[in-house]
Amino acid sequence: MYGLGRTGLSAALALKAGGARVHAWDDNEETRAKAEAAGIALSDINKRDWQTFAALVLSPGIPYKFPQPHRLVRMAEMTGVPVIGDMELFARAVQALPERGRPKVVGITGTNGKSTTTTLIGHILKEAGRDVRVGGNIGTGVLDLAALHSNAIYVLELSSYQLDLVKSLHCNVAVMLNLSPDHLDRHGGMDGYQAAKMRIFQNQTPQDLAVIGFDDIYTQSMAIGLSASGPQRVTQISSTYTLGKGVSAVEGRLYDNLNGKAEFIGKLEDCPALQGRHNFQNAAAAYATCRALGLDPATIMAGLKSFPGLAHRMENIGAIDGVRFVNDSKATNAQAAEQALRAFKNIYWIAGGVAKAEGIMPLAPLFSHVSKAYLFGQAEEAFTATLQGKVPVQACGTLDRAVDQAFRDAKAAGDTSPVVLLSPACASFDQFKDYEHRGDVFRSLVKAMMSAPLKESA
Ligand code: ADP
Repeated sequence: MYGLGRTGLSAALALKAGGARVHAWDDNEETRAKAEAAGIALSDINKRDWQTFAALVLSPGIPYKFPQPHRLVRMAEMTGVPVIGDMELFARAVQALPERGRPKVVGITGTNGKSTTTTLIGHILKEAGRDVRVGGNIGTGVLDLAALHSNAIYVLELSSYQLDLVKSLHCNVAVMLNLSPDHLDRHGGMDGYQAAKMRIFQNQTPQDLAVIGFDDIYTQSMAIGLSASGPQRVTQISSTYTLGKGVSAVEGRLYDNLNGKAEFIGKLEDCPALQGRHNFQNAAAAYATCRALGLDPATIMAGLKSFPGLAHRMENIGAIDGVRFVNDSKATNAQAAEQALRAFKNIYWIAGGVAKAEGIMPLAPLFSHVSKAYLFGQAEEAFTATLQGKVPVQACGTLDRAVDQAFRDAKAAGDTSPVVLLSPACASFDQFKDYEHRGDVFRSLVKAMMSAPLKESA
């Protein structure tokens, strides 16, 4: 086991729990100390006899082939030790179960939209009452997801690095959204990148489905190639073309044409978190996937409508009395906050925490979108100075006071479509564990307000 960051550590723990003899190492002393504290015995694999190793489990951050294989990858190759990743360990655990006891596996890859589509599919299935676990390259590492059983559906985001290190993964539904030149340094050019991505389809059988975007030339050729000679079924999806067979979402109009007879399913303009052509592609992929898992069109459409978006990234939490609440806690610097400030007008902006060197000065061109700012945390003073004379400001000290005050003002102002936006442009660690914790607290505060009426006094 080499590389003991978050993924590597959970792989080492899972291997240990499964009874394997683990030799775990990382070149970084601090990372090693953390792993040791988590109960992993360290063993310097540079000094071990490699003939005794069954596999080298590589953390996804370590170069496998490009720009150059890591020296330990070369060592593995010289000694005939297979190199694998955490996804391969998961795949082997699934394969080890009797066929009828295996969970369903949905894999999602592509250059862009993986996290959105993975989360969206997870949301639709969950709303439909399915036992679903979402993870992989997003959120929870695959080996930290709840135990395997036959009724569960694993929805896994797969990066090209992870796909490079799997051999046994069998996706019942494999989604390839799109491909464009990206990460080419890690894969030695487009051919290497494409080859890594194609591994999502390996081990598929005639019972399985490949869902493939038809909006770029790379995935088009994959779809045509697999339709001609792959064992699996292929469903094409597109946000650009009205397909003769497949799922289309041109201009946000979702059509199911899976059986060669077009059926209008719904308008994606009714789905607040799925705006823009790229999201239409994600929605079409999610529709095709969920149909294949047995959901009916109306249930899928309901899930597309209620999708809140990715947690902490312009996440739409809901509205109270016409005031919308948006959680953009992931915006830990000005650059990241810019997207949200640009997207809305009449913003009641909650910001603060530990500021970056540039503060919020770079956001000045968007201050006209802000009706009032509510500040908390260490940055309060500095941000007040920046906003002085440009935007009304209130120093609130803590997030809960900021939320309460912002809502009162937004409700009273009578603007059209007011938005209470948490987009802090700051790190969170003065008052929270991390940005996720900060966003979770914001979401719970809003949910609490949804279920309890506002108290009279401010
Ligand atoms: P990934 O997990 O592949 O990085 P995300 O779902 O996190 O993708 O989206 C990252 C960014 O890529 C989004 O902010 C959006 O602008 C863009 N994006 C999302 N879906 C798509 C898509 N299907 N095609 C192109 N760009 C997309």
